[in-house]
Amino acid sequence: MPLDSRQHATLERAAELALSFLGSLDDAPVCATASLAELRQRFSRPLPDGGVDPVTVIDELARDAAGGLLGNAGGRFYGWVIGAGLPAALAADWLTATWDQNAGLYACGPAAAVVEEVCGTWLKDVLGLPPSATFALVTGCQMAHVTCLAAARHAVLARAGWDVNRDGLAGAPSVRILTSSEVHGTTTRAAKLLGIGTANMFVLPSDLASQLTPEVLRDALGRESGRPTIVVLQAGDVNCGAFDPFPELIALAHEANAWVHIDGAMGLWCNAVPELRHLLAGAEHADSWATDGHKWLNVPYDCGYAFVAHAEHHRAAMEHRASYLSHADDARDQLDWTPDHSRRARGFATYAALRELGRTGLCHLVARCCRHARDIVTRIGDLPDARAVCLPVINQGLVRFYDARPGATEEDHDKRTDEVMAAINATGEAFFTGTTWKGKRCMRVSVSSWRTTADDVDRAVAAAEQVLSVAANVGHE
Ligand SMILES: *Cc1c(COP(=O)(O)O)cnc(C)c1O
Repeated sequence: MPLDSRQHATLERAAELALSFLGSLDDAPVCATASLAELRQRFSRPLPDGGVDPVTVIDELARDAAGGLLGNAGGRFYGWVIGAGLPAALAADWLTATWDQNAGLYACGPAAAVVEEVCGTWLKDVLGLPPSATFALVTGCQMAHVTCLAAARHAVLARAGWDVNRDGLAGAPSVRILTSSEVHGTTTRAAKLLGIGTANMFVLPSDLASQLTPEVLRDALGRESGRPTIVVLQAGDVNCGAFDPFPELIALAHEANAWVHIDGAMGLWCNAVPELRHLLAGAEHADSWATDGHKWLNVPYDCGYAFVAHAEHHRAAMEHRASYLSHADDARDQLDWTPDHSRRARGFATYAALRELGRTGLCHLVARCCRHARDIVTRIGDLPDARAVCLPVINQGLVRFYDARPGATEEDHDKRTDEVMAAINATGEAFFTGTTWKGKRCMRVSVSSWRTTADDVDRAVAAAEQVLSVAANVGHE
């Protein structure tokens, strides 16, 4: 076959396989059904000396992956915090791979660069961030933290008279991070990558509502008050979706000359819903913000967004020049703002998602996920020997299952929680993951998919009901 017709046949086959996969999602088990051993056995063929026909490669790839794919592209997946892909976003992502632009520079991909400019403007608008903030489209909230905290590090050290770009960290004033016990592990990883160090991260206790209080932050700022300081606040934590009280905390931090970064992986999207916007009051006064595209916006992986209120520090942390590159005078070269160099043109999928939804569609998506999360947590929490431990503030909540035997201990309830969750997942009807919250095992409920419907919620509750009734009968034997 001539080269271009083989390519044509391969892409057509991939499209058929993709459509058949998407069509199967409502009925297929949402959990993986193939074991680790099976998957290894399927994929571990000897690397061939001669090449394999591309249609065969794709056919066999799909066949071998079957059963090893989780159903998070559908509507019945509530594990971790994982979104699906909106139709236009997924299609734009196909085209992104096809066009294969290197979106590091305007010169390498003019349309990609301009689309990212527009994405930046639209995102700041829907997320309620200052129009003057600079931005970067990165691989996820993890790299958004790294981008923002690199800008923060540059700023707090510059205020202390230190040029971190030139002189590095050896001998620099020691930077500290103040945050709460709801901090996400990706902030800790950013602290490690940026040479701040985990010993310089002070995890302050949050209150019963999972919020950092002004009293606690004021105390912490007062200790070692001369030290370059970054305060990391939470807009929607992974367990209960709690938001820190931004106006008070940001004012305190700024009085102390600290930089304020907000982890809004989920929470920043609440700005799209008028009834939820109050949760973000004051968040616009922070110095940087990180969020995700591949979670609640339902853009395919990999996609996250960093925003910085101080262009000079963002640019100083990332800017890159080389004589062999072609730098634009009036266009935006993405690599001046991103930690990567050659990069995927991930703006196309974001652009497509925001256009497909519009303001109203985004509002409905966010509100709908919150409603479904609340329904799942309250309805499963009302079942026998179950309890809603954390009602969702937004789209995350917790349920714990209890061992009904007399004298059962907290450890028994922990074990029971993990068992019930595994049994629900084994039905293939819904998929949840666990967490340890305030010392107790819980089942986390996270609803981030545009595809989740009221029917999916009923199926999750029915699966839990069935597991609990079978278990109760076994218990009485
Ligand atoms: C998922 C998540 C992150 C990390 O985002 P990635 O997209 O996985 O890099 C950070 N913070 C919170 C609150 C999250 O839920």
